[in-house]
Amino acid sequence: MQYCRWLDGSQLDVPVGKVVCVGRNYLNHINELDNERPAEPVLFIKPDTCVVDAEQPFRLPEGQGSCHNEVELALLITQPLTGEFTGDPLDVVSGIGIGLDLTLRDVQRSLKSKGLPWERAKAFDGACPVTAFAPVTKEQLRKGINFYLKVNGTERQRGDTRDMLWGMASLLDEIRQVFTLKPGDIVFTGTPAGVGPLHSGDELEMGINDFMQVHSHVR
Ligand code: ZN
Repeated sequence: MQYCRWLDGSQLDVPVGKVVCVGRNYLNHINELDNERPAEPVLFIKPDTCVVDAEQPFRLPEGQGSCHNEVELALLITQPLTGEFTGDPLDVVSGIGIGLDLTLRDVQRSLKSKGLPWERAKAFDGACPVTAFAPVTKEQLRKGINFYLKVNGTERQRGDTRDMLWGMASLLDEIRQVFTLKPGDIVFTGTPAGVGPLHSGDELEMGINDFMQVHSHVR
């Protein structure tokens, strides 16, 4: 059973649950993949078996074509959020971290072209490296969060939550109408432009300005 960590090394008292992800939440990423701008958020789920520690070296699936980085701001959920919830949805978020929504891009293209579900491309074991979480306040979330990924010393992706099509509160509002969030669940808020293939031996640096800077590498 895997548990989320806080930056100070302490563990959340409930195990990691599902990861609810939004696709196509940054216009520059929609454009780079030539996708259509959606009328409602594109939501999908990665199961708990996807989650691994992003600060440990991790493996990519072999023999299935390219595996792309998608760096995303990850929200740690610590209170239930359901369809009946009437308060401020940002109240259920206690921490932020960096998540990698690893995507087998060739597999995904092939599935998309046939109208098939994406799980083989997005929900495989280890498809969701996540860092430790930093405590965050609603005020900090509202101000906007800037995050990035460097690969082998070169910046590949940088995002700012103020550029999201669905901001964090409205995204959580959309999610709760469909999927109940439970403590230990994680929400991935979408990736900005700059997705590309990762390779064995790549050195990664991921960070959230003012909150964290962590290193890892691809085995
Ligand atoms: Zn993604």
